[in-house]
Amino acid sequence: MKNLLLFAILLVFLASEVRAGEDKELSNDSSNKASFERLESLQNKQWQHGSPDCQSNNDPAIEVFQYDKSSYILRQNKCLSYEAPFIYVLVGDEKILVLDTGATASEQEFPLYKTIQTLNQKHAEQDNSSNREVLVIHSHSHSDHYSVDPQFENQPRVTVVAANSVAIKEYFSFKNWPEQQTTIELGGRSITIIPTPGHQGEAISIYDTQTQWLLTGDTLYPGVIYVKDWQDYKDSITRLVEFSSKHKVSAILGAHIEMTNRAGEYYEIGTIYQPEESALPLMAADLLTLSSQLNLDDKPTKIVLDGFIVEPLGTLPKLISNIVSWFI
Ligand SMILES: [Zn+2]
Ligand SMILES: [Zn+2]
Repeated sequence: MKNLLLFAILLVFLASEVRAGEDKELSNDSSNKASFERLESLQNKQWQHGSPDCQSNNDPAIEVFQYDKSSYILRQNKCLSYEAPFIYVLVGDEKILVLDTGATASEQEFPLYKTIQTLNQKHAEQDNSSNREVLVIHSHSHSDHYSVDPQFENQPRVTVVAANSVAIKEYFSFKNWPEQQTTIELGGRSITIIPTPGHQGEAISIYDTQTQWLLTGDTLYPGVIYVKDWQDYKDSITRLVEFSSKHKVSAILGAHIEMTNRAGEYYEIGTIYQPEESALPLMAADLLTLSSQLNLDDKPTKIVLDGFIVEPLGTLPKLISNIVSWFI
């Protein structure tokens, strides 16, 4: 009788284990399906893309796209700046990370701080918590990525890491730039900072564990990427290839779209209307293709691929860029 009872208990236990396993598999399946659908919606996303006549453009200054429960991609209206940079907002349990601030300083024209505070408030209400700290960092120090910093400076519970080499190395405790990587915590969400100089000396890329996004600023995006220091750029791309061989990268997301949806074709600099622009995401395979192309030749050489173009910066623009960087 006792043995029978033990056997019955064992059967009940095994049945519940099998059910738990099935439940887990089902929940893994559904979370895989959800992340696949999210990526697909990002791949198919048609962004606001300006107007032939900006006088009649009624799009908001900032387009806000919510990717998952706590990740947002913002795009600046092309009629405010032809650069139309993308800004990434990652919400952790304690902090909100804002990567880049955009090209138009005016609060009336481009109310970025207010937009971030609205998101902050929304998440505080959802969690029944207080507003989170805001941390503003930059993919690099070109002005279309930091011009809106003054809206954030001196605001309560906001840290702005200035877009210059000294501030970046100090804040992220870089002792061995650019070989070293470092990690910051947003609360249940860790972010890796990878130095990627080349397009510009202070460029970084960041990896988010939650979305598995690799955010590359102007180091890699669907457009014409000007490279100031070719050897630095090659090393940075090698670093990103190594990183992506060890971490799952769902998408590589940069700071602009300049390509059309036709292979190798791009909109000229200054374009304010891009009705047929390409999708924002690039994939890990694009990184590998770029890396192998870069390794074909030691000399700086223009590389034209279907989804983006990499071009060495000429001597005069390089000189101007160096002069500008003295004032940052
Ligand atoms: Zn840019
Ligand atoms: Zn740039």
